[in-house]
Amino acid sequence: MAPPLRPFRLIPYFFLLSLLLMGCATALMAGYLRHYSSEQLLKLEKNRAASLVQIFENSLWADFRPLISLSKQPTRLKQAASNPELRTAVVSLMRNSDVIRVKMYAPDGITVFSTDARQIGADENDDDGFRQAVTGTPASELAHNHSIDAFEHTLTERDIISTYVPVRGPTGRVEGVLELYLDATPFVMDAAHQLWWLTLAIVGLMGILFIAQMLVVRHAGRVIAQQAASLAEANRELDRRVADRTRELETSNQRLHSEIAERRRAEATLDRLAHHDTLTGLPNRLQFQQRLAGALGRGEVGEHGLAMLFIDLDRFKDVNDTQGHHVGDQLLIAVASRLASHVASSDLLARLGGDEFVCLMEGLASQSSADAAAGSLLSLFERPFDIAGQDIHLSASIGIGFARQDGADADTLLRNADLAMYQAKAAGRNRYQRYTPQLSAAIEERVKVERHLRQAIATCEIDVHYQPKIRCADGVLHGAEALARWRSPILGDIGPARFIPIAEESGQIEALGDLVLDKCCRQLAQWRSAGFIPPVASVNLSVKQLERADFPERVMALLQKHRLPPEWLELEITESVIMTADDAIAALSVLRQLGIRLSIDDFGTGYSSLSYLQELPVQTLKIDRAFVLGIGCGRNGEAIVRSIQSLADNLGLETVAEGVETIEQESFLKTVGCTAIQGFLYAKPLPAAEFEDRWLQATAINRR
Ligand code: C2E
Ligand code: CA
Ligand code: CA
Repeated sequence: MAPPLRPFRLIPYFFLLSLLLMGCATALMAGYLRHYSSEQLLKLEKNRAASLVQIFENSLWADFRPLISLSKQPTRLKQAASNPELRTAVVSLMRNSDVIRVKMYAPDGITVFSTDARQIGADENDDDGFRQAVTGTPASELAHNHSIDAFEHTLTERDIISTYVPVRGPTGRVEGVLELYLDATPFVMDAAHQLWWLTLAIVGLMGILFIAQMLVVRHAGRVIAQQAASLAEANRELDRRVADRTRELETSNQRLHSEIAERRRAEATLDRLAHHDTLTGLPNRLQFQQRLAGALGRGEVGEHGLAMLFIDLDRFKDVNDTQGHHVGDQLLIAVASRLASHVASSDLLARLGGDEFVCLMEGLASQSSADAAAGSLLSLFERPFDIAGQDIHLSASIGIGFARQDGADADTLLRNADLAMYQAKAAGRNRYQRYTPQLSAAIEERVKVERHLRQAIATCEIDVHYQPKIRCADGVLHGAEALARWRSPILGDIGPARFIPIAEESGQIEALGDLVLDKCCRQLAQWRSAGFIPPVASVNLSVKQLERADFPERVMALLQKHRLPPEWLELEITESVIMTADDAIAALSVLRQLGIRLSIDDFGTGYSSLSYLQELPVQTLKIDRAFVLGIGCGRNGEAIVRSIQSLADNLGLETVAEGVETIEQESFLKTVGCTAIQGFLYAKPLPAAEFEDRWLQATAINRR
């Protein structure tokens, strides 16, 4: 801020300066006037004197001329000059004029006559006026005399003008000089008087001017002071506002800075969230896609240069379902950190979601280095994962795809690596598999099946076959399993092992399940109305059906619609379905309370513990075909079947062995106490009409 200006003290400065200037101006003017008036006076008096000299010259010169020649003879001169006649003539001339003294000089400067007789004979050659006049030019001068002798008396305090006039002879030569003293006192007094008044007038005028100026200046001073005061006030106000605004700006600046910092933090967090998986902290699908698109877009990928390893954990879902999501999450974190510690920093390990990871490897020397990398990643799963003090064994399946060769764009490459991973799983899990174009053909085939299946369900093209279950005790029909069959006019026969997983993955399983259940119930009703006692029909159930909250009501509605007792229907549920479905026990309990029979399918292949099994409201265990196959093969198949049977006996459950093809199997199963047998030994799954012919008509017991 600039220091405040000291107010300028205009009035005193102006007062002094203008007083000085006016004083000077007045003095100058008065001086000039004085000079001018005395000049004018002198001029006037000179003229007067000149005309008087003319008179004196005309009247007296002839009488005086002889005196000139006596200038060198003082005694004779004094005698001649004292001539009373001469003097009388001079005095008579002087009497009617202002002339108070008359003097005459010879050209050599000797005073040849004077009304003051004492001066006769005196040398005036040194006198300036005389010397000028003797050369032919008149001269005058004004002087103040305190006392002067006039020819008749003495005068005091007089202003006297003395005028020298040359007197020329007939030849024009200066014969002598005449000097007249004129009394100018009245003129000078008059002039002095006038001068005094004039000076007074000037002083008065200057005074008025000065006062007027002072008034104006004082007013101007006041206005300026007021303006200065309001300017100072405005300045102070401005300073205040500037200070306020500066403070405001500083505060808002600080706020802005902290807002910017906050925003940067938020952006960084958002960026991290956008590009990282929240659970494991690994790069997420988005970052993976960006990196992959970047690598492919740069065109730096050589023939083997970029490999994509699609990693999927084996049976992770089971761990998640049996141990809970919390353990599942911990396991994923542990897997992620183990994989990350092994992957080179130049490679990208990302989690795509669920139990799917992907590793992007750039700058590979050969395709076999991708195989080696996949192998070493798999070896990371040999050690169990310690989750909450519990060892969890896990394996993974890896699909490998190479850029360009297995997909020019990111989507294709990812899809093909995924496909290769499925192939690895299909080949028995815990292995890696490179993508081959044949896999692609398989997926196209799968898409075709999926599309046709949708059509088939909509047009009820799906049929249901029935496979009998024969009671071991007496060989009579114990029940029948309803199995979906699809004979497509375009694709031909497609087995359920093929289309059921496709129906599950493409979200068609509920519709398919409803269709099978409906056809089965309709068939039972039809058999009953035809006079048969239909077998207990078991229908396979998938997770999605069991998870539907209204499933029990729908089943009951169906039974009521066909007026079937609930105990005629059995639902086969695999262990993995029970493990996977939310609230499976509650749903099964409701079904059981309604009177519907329940059976555990493929028993022994899942993970259900004994205590869990006790809670399930089931009546039957179905011994899986894999165990039946082991009978009579020298392996411990028989031991397993025996222990399943004793487990069932202990729990008071029936057993049905499935996939029984030989007499040996049948007899062993009979000896251990198996309730019923299902298998090709008796019959393959049959169309309803054929089943009716072979198992209902033929068996008298099934006729009313
Ligand atoms: P699953 O429930 O274990 O059905 C028994 C399978 O074993 C049937 O195969 C049957 O034909 C076959 N089988 C029976 N006896 C023998 C035998 O002695 N030797 C051999 N080698 N096989 C025998 P299928 O009909 O191909 O069904 C396969 C699977 O498809 C079924 O296995 C079942 O899990 C599923 N499935 C079939 N129909 C349905 C359905 O309507 N709904 C659901 N959710 N799943 C179904
Ligand atoms: Ca079954
Ligand atoms: Ca089965």
